[in-house]
Amino acid sequence: MRITSVTGIPVSTSFDYGNPAGPGGNLHLRAMDTLLVKVETDIGITGWGEGFGFSLVPITAQVLNTLIAPACLGEEPHDIPGLMSRLARRFHNFGLNGAVSFALSGIDIALWDIAAKAAGQPLHALLGGKRRDRVPAYASLLRYGDPKLVAENTARAVALGYRQIKLHEVRLDCIRAARAAAPVEIPLMLDINCAWPGVAQAVEFCGDVQGMNVRWVEEPIWPPEDFAAIAEVRREGGVGIAAGECLGSVAALKAMLQAGAVDVVQPSITKCGGISAMLEMRRLAVQHGVALVPHCPYFGPGLLATLHFLAAAEVEEPLEYYFAELARPPYPALIPRQGFVAVPDAPGLGYEPAL
Ligand SMILES: [Mg+2]
Repeated sequence: MRITSVTGIPVSTSFDYGNPAGPGGNLHLRAMDTLLVKVETDIGITGWGEGFGFSLVPITAQVLNTLIAPACLGEEPHDIPGLMSRLARRFHNFGLNGAVSFALSGIDIALWDIAAKAAGQPLHALLGGKRRDRVPAYASLLRYGDPKLVAENTARAVALGYRQIKLHEVRLDCIRAARAAAPVEIPLMLDINCAWPGVAQAVEFCGDVQGMNVRWVEEPIWPPEDFAAIAEVRREGGVGIAAGECLGSVAALKAMLQAGAVDVVQPSITKCGGISAMLEMRRLAVQHGVALVPHCPYFGPGLLATLHFLAAAEVEEPLEYYFAELARPPYPALIPRQGFVAVPDAPGLGYEPAL
């Protein structure tokens, strides 16, 4: 089998996230954009991957279509480690984190889809086998910045059956509004997106949210690669700390773990090197006694691949699902039902994207 074409296909859809002002309000997102990566072969098997995402999509598409696609033509897709290693070495000086690694992540996912389809097996079978038929999803609420809207949408997520909820709020009145709107046994995750300028502010915030059944505080400080500072917040803060969505490689994840920075590591399959990297990262996380809960606020093959990854995980962890209704979801079957997403058993990723 040989690769005959590699194509980046930008997809964009409008969305509703429970804010009457719409995405034009305090949110930087105007649409949900992502890059589908289509890899075709000479025996008629097509694989799908996804490269991160949002406003960077046109750039990643150009990198994929003009730089990386020509290097894949004629290659044998079954040799995933060999091909991915050659591509990484060839393009490493154009960026170890960013458009190049996002595009490579998409190719890796597509190669795994091809391998599973060629074997006539669902992807999870190649990842060690399915340990559950459905994976719990956590509602990842976008930022509202308004206690009333936060409370309304938290209550809506609870009513839809979610049993874990993440906020992207930084104001305590908004976080308290969410806590009041959800039964206390439902844990909250608090994503700060690196907003606090230093350890002191982050530790103070962690103290303020203690006792609120918070599973983790995510990316507490700027910059995200200051692992020593994050480790200090972890030691002083008294709540669980999560980070890792900005990691571009296995080596970067290793450094984060070695620094003792996190309780939960959150690599993103469309950014960090795809399924191959995620498998290695899980091995390292287990070695360090740290949980791995992937970052996946996207809706394409990356979300689907993350579902297979979690279905095959020894320890059950939730799938991040952006709390937004898309006008045209690439995979309608991935919309959680009663807080769970069913794991498909058809060969490969199990679904073809609706384009
Ligand atoms: Mg985050």
